[in-house]
Amino acid sequence: MDAEPRRFDTRNLSWRLARMSERLNRNQVTKLIRRAFSLWASVAPLRFSQVFNEQEGTADIEIGFYRGSHNCQRRFDGPGGDAAHTQAASAIHIDIEEELQLSDNRPVRQRGAVHLLRLLVHEIGHLLGLGHSSHLSSIMHPSSVNAWPALLRRPTSRVPAALIGRDEIRLVRER
Ligand SMILES: [Zn+2]
Ligand SMILES: [Zn+2]
Repeated sequence: MDAEPRRFDTRNLSWRLARMSERLNRNQVTKLIRRAFSLWASVAPLRFSQVFNEQEGTADIEIGFYRGSHNCQRRFDGPGGDAAHTQAASAIHIDIEEELQLSDNRPVRQRGAVHLLRLLVHEIGHLLGLGHSSHLSSIMHPSSVNAWPALLRRPTSRVPAALIGRDEIRLVRER
């Protein structure tokens, strides 16, 4: 899940859902992606907007669901293991075969399942230039995508710092 750090030359970034998973509901997934970006936007001077254009390469950040080999330097390994990665510092690829949980207010239902929202927040962090953190409470901890303490039940204003991690927020603000 490592990414090449990237300094975007703009604070207004567009994103596009480039390829859907046939196993998930598009509206639910779109909502989660919007929420993931809004969490970052709430802690740093960044603005994210959705692009609906069907053409490839029309957004700063392309998000897509893929399986196995998928026209990328990396290939997916099925359920478990690699759940997502960033590509060319401008795309987030997610493994379709992963057991992805869309509900974000309860622990994962089954072993090996991954919270999609948490996965998205983590991968966006990579695109914003963040590496992995050794702090268990940080969203950038490598295994943070499986755990989901009931943070989102807290008052909204206190969620981002508790979820993302103070070091990460400082780094993104300094970009
Ligand atoms: Zn990672
Ligand atoms: Zn890929």
